Amino acid sequence: MPLYKTEAIVIRSMDFSESDKIVTFFTRDFGKLRGIAKGAKRTKKGFGSTLELFSYINLIFFDKGNLGLARINSCYSIESYMEICKDIQKVAYGSYFVELVNGLVGEKEKNDGIFNLLVDSLFLINYQKLDEEIARIFEIRLLSLLGYQPQLEECLICAHKLSSKEKFWFSPVKGGILCNRCSHGFKKLSSISLGTLRILLMARDMDFNKIHRLVFSNQALKESEDALTNFIYYQTGKQLNSMKFLKKIQMLS
Ligand SMILES: [Zn+2]
Repeated sequence: MPLYKTEAIVIRSMDFSESDKIVTFFTRDFGKLRGIAKGAKRTKKGFGSTLELFSYINLIFFDKGNLGLARINSCYSIESYMEICKDIQKVAYGSYFVELVNGLVGEKEKNDGIFNLLVDSLFLINYQKLDEEIARIFEIRLLSLLGYQPQLEECLICAHKLSSKEKFWFSPVKGGILCNRCSHGFKKLSSISLGTLRILLMARDMDFNKIHRLVFSNQALKESEDALTNFIYYQTGKQLNSMKFLKKIQMLS
């Protein structure tokens, strides 16, 4: 069996037997990959904390090349994002990011942009003050990188461009915005203002190094959450556990 090496983030980790763990990684070179770590529970010698959720590692594994489980040989920590694990709110955001990637990305679909987005977003919540914006920024960028990006620049039906004179609605089913005239007869629409649409476009397109400067108004936070979470629900067909957890945590804070 050939041996491979790649950078990876742990996006799911579960006990498999008395001594083994099954771990799902998002890797830079092979996309989403599931592997078994023999003896990971019995002795921490070989793996240490490298198989904990959110760990950013160099992963060395054997693979037969099919969609079965890879055999994890060894892991070396690049960044453990320890600060996330000390703060329940940060855990909620980090869990949401990794569950979204796990739920929306297919097995072994390499995507450098998504890998960088995950590394950068975990870095941001680990080292900086947590702002609710990061969830919306992560969602819009991930959807865009996956090719599911909602149309936010013009009405999906008549192509009317964004303007302050027109009222727009977001349709999770159609995957974008409708102007007031075209919105009649559509269900599950949520109101979305020009300010919210503009800041979402910036969140999607701006350099990630400057993203922490982006501040959403309360209205933009509310409207973008409604639009994007409904759209993701429509794409995945289920409400993610981590999304429910995140909502609970936000209500408590
Ligand atoms: Zn229209």
